[in-house]
Amino acid sequence: MDMKCGLEIHVQLKTDSKLFCDCNTNYQDASANTNICPVCLNQPGAKPYPTNDKALEGALKIALMLDCKIADDITYFMRKHYNYPDLPSGYQRTSVPIGYEGELNGVRIREVHMEEDPGQYKPDLGIVDFNRSGIPLIEIVTEPDMKSPEEARNFLKDLIRVLDYSGNARGEGSMRADVNISLEGGKRAEIKNINSIKGAYRALKFEMVRQKNLIKRGVEVKQETRAFLESQMITVAMRLKEGAEDYRYLLDPDLPPMVIEEDLIKHIKEEMPESPNIKVKRFMAEYGLAEEHAKVLASELALADAFEEVAKVINSEFAALWMRDEVKRVLSYNKLDYSESAFTSENLIELFDMIQKKEITTKAAKKVIETMPISDKKPKIIAEELGLSGIVDESEVISAVEKAIAENPEAIKDYNDGKSNALNYLVGQVMRFTRGKAEPNRTVELLKERL
Ligand code: ZN
Ligand code: MN
Repeated sequence: MDMKCGLEIHVQLKTDSKLFCDCNTNYQDASANTNICPVCLNQPGAKPYPTNDKALEGALKIALMLDCKIADDITYFMRKHYNYPDLPSGYQRTSVPIGYEGELNGVRIREVHMEEDPGQYKPDLGIVDFNRSGIPLIEIVTEPDMKSPEEARNFLKDLIRVLDYSGNARGEGSMRADVNISLEGGKRAEIKNINSIKGAYRALKFEMVRQKNLIKRGVEVKQETRAFLESQMITVAMRLKEGAEDYRYLLDPDLPPMVIEEDLIKHIKEEMPESPNIKVKRFMAEYGLAEEHAKVLASELALADAFEEVAKVINSEFAALWMRDEVKRVLSYNKLDYSESAFTSENLIELFDMIQKKEITTKAAKKVIETMPISDKKPKIIAEELGLSGIVDESEVISAVEKAIAENPEAIKDYNDGKSNALNYLVGQVMRFTRGKAEPNRTVELLKERL
């Protein structure tokens, strides 16, 4: 059964002030209803300021990075009507497409437009917090080109990467996606308000199975809007699908049309960062990296930049290996992006240099690197504090090897019976005695000589 899936992704644009007023956009740090004014509260008679230039520029840059054609000269905002406690005006201002007919890794982008974020209704607290009201959003609408939940997940990862590279969007943390999915022989269901990549994947998986079962039993799949309940990982019916006409789109008479000047587009194109795809290709050509490895390093702009800084000083193959394995490993363990971590290219260079000069063992370096994303200390200091700096000399390793053999007759017997785990155990003992400062390969040699 063929599946078709399209996405509508909302992400906040990174600006200091809101889309139609001067209120601050740091809504998460502020106490409820402190970043507000008559405009973003939509009080009667309050007129919006002209559209925030920075938001428009950011949205245009993202549209260009998604290979979109840019709307000719003028663009304007519509009022999209609906009723909800977080939207006192009764309409959301949403622009006509500023970009259209784009493409990202085989998925066609139907359009890109801007919107204002509504407030946050918090039924459990009995309040509406309007700090978020009026924060600029970009909405990216794809064609239904994804054929599995996995494809949708990959696309979202790629898209979040492009948004990260643009420097103008807030990323997965601010994402709200609507997902539509239809199976061959069924109607289209839309699932609203998914706020993570994992959530999108799970919702699609659930919905695919639900629709398959209906079709199998000969029950019609209704065209409807469903809600995703993240806590239970299921979707439930909300309402039968409304058409665009239900929103009663009207031109917003309070806002002057925006002019997209050719000079502005030219300027954005000149300043635009390299896209992730192009960076991957360049890393392959320039540093001789395999595609998979180049992709890991390009997965975050800050990590990619750090790699290039490090590779100016340290052998690029060596740097790539350590950064894609170890740096990535400890970042994901700490659930940090590179940019949020305490890693700096300077500290990485210092550590890699210590490894290459054999001032520290590989094993010890892996311990030091575990502290680096959460500490401002230099790797040399971390190594000293953990008692990991230096490599013990041969005589010390030999006495540790002899001690390990003397203390573990069971393991020796197992080894002689052909159990290879026993050797790993003995290496572990030597590491313990030398506090990880023995070179593992040399330790194995020394053990083997004596067994
Ligand atoms: Zn305001
Ligand atoms: Mn929208």
